Amino acid sequence: MSNEACCLCGSVKWAVSSEPLQAFNCHCSICRKAHGSAFGTYWFVPLDQFRWLGDTVSIVSYRSSPQIQRSFCGTCGSVLPQPVESINMCAVPGGPHDDGKRPQAEIFTRHKAPWFDLTSDLPRFDEYPPDSGMTPVPREALPAAPEGVVRGSCNCGEIRFHVTETLNPVHNCHCSRCRRGRAAAHASNGFATVAAVRFVQGEEQLKSYKMPDAQYFTQVFCNICGSKMPRMDPTRDLAVVPLSVLDDDPGVKPQRHIFVRDKAAWHVISDDLPQFSAAPQ
Ligand SMILES: [Zn+2]
Ligand SMILES: [Zn+2]
Ligand SMILES: [Zn+2]
Repeated sequence: MSNEACCLCGSVKWAVSSEPLQAFNCHCSICRKAHGSAFGTYWFVPLDQFRWLGDTVSIVSYRSSPQIQRSFCGTCGSVLPQPVESINMCAVPGGPHDDGKRPQAEIFTRHKAPWFDLTSDLPRFDEYPPDSGMTPVPREALPAAPEGVVRGSCNCGEIRFHVTETLNPVHNCHCSRCRRGRAAAHASNGFATVAAVRFVQGEEQLKSYKMPDAQYFTQVFCNICGSKMPRMDPTRDLAVVPLSVLDDDPGVKPQRHIFVRDKAAWHVISDDLPQFSAAPQ
C-alpha cells in the first residue's frame, strides 16, 4: 500500500507505505489552532514507512511545546507530517489523505472547543492516552474578555484579533481544499462582516495563499506558527473566521456539514446536523 498526499499548494508531498499503528483525533488547543479545525487527526506511522516525495524546502518548523515540534508549508500554511525520532514514528495529519485508518480514540477531550459537540462512539481520553509517555503542557487561563468581544489568537501569540459580531452562518466544510488546507477532517468556519473582525496585534505576520484555480479560496495563516487566521474579503464584505482559533466561546455552533461529497473516507460524521452534498442553496 502507498497512500500519497500533499499540502494545499502542492509544494510538499509525501507517502505512507503501511497502515498506521495508531490514529487519534486530538482536541488540544494547539492542534485546534494549528489546523483551524475542531480537532486534528494524526496517524502514527513507523519512520521507515514514511517518506517525503521530492523537495522539502517549503517546510517551516515551529516548536509548540518543549516536547513537540510542528511543521507547516511556508507557502500555503497546511500542517505537514512531523517525523518524531525519539519514538521512531512520523505523526501524519489525516486531513489531506482521502482514505486511510479510522481514528481509534478522541484525545485531549478536556480541552475540546466549547462549540464542538463530541458525538463519536470512540474511546475518550482527557489528555494523552495512558502509556503514551507524553506529558501535557499546562496552559494559563485567560483574563475575562471585554464586553461584546470574542478574542482569537495564533499558537505563538504574535497575532491577536477581536470579533464583535455573532458569527453566522457557521459550518463544517469537508471539501478537498479545506481538508488539505487545514490538514484535518473538515474546516469549521464562521462568517461576519469585515468591520466585525479586527486584528489588534501582529497583523504584519499574516500570510495568505490563494488557490490559483479558485474564485475565492484563500488560506490565511501566521507566518511564524502556521495557525489559521481570519480571512478578510472586502469585495464581498465577508470575514471568514476559523472557529478553532477563538480563545472565547463564540456562543454559536456549526449549523451544518457542507461538501459532504468530498468527505474523507476515514472520517465518520456522527452528529445529527444537516448534510449538504455541496454548498447549501
Ligand atoms: Zn503548500
Ligand atoms: Zn493536539
Ligand atoms: Zn503565530
